[in-house]
This record gives sequence, structure tokens and C-alpha cells, in this order.
Amino acid sequence: MLFFARFKHIKMKTKKALVCPNCWGLGIVTDEDGNTALCVACNGTGKIYN
Ligand SMILES: [Zn+2]
Repeated sequence: MLFFARFKHIKMKTKKALVCPNCWGLGIVTDEDGNTALCVACNGTGKIYN
């Protein structure tokens, strides 16, 4: 039971990668609630810094 509880917790925190409209990379992540964050590749600027 404890295992499933932990698994559910992890699954709820799973994030999806979306294509960033600025740099066209898979840098935008969203959580289960659909909340999106700034692109981690270009930080929302369209310019990719490595
Ligand atoms: Zn980007």
C-alpha cells in the first residue's frame, strides 16, 4: 500500500515537455494541472544558451 501511495505521488509530479514556440525546442514543461513554465532551453527569450 505504501508503494502505491508513493507511486501515485510521483506520477502526480510527472511533467511533460512541450515544444517551445520561441526556440522550437522541447524546453517547456507543464505539470499535471496544465500549468506551464518558461522554456528551460531559451528561458522564454527564443535564444538558446548552452
Ligand atoms: Zn524555448
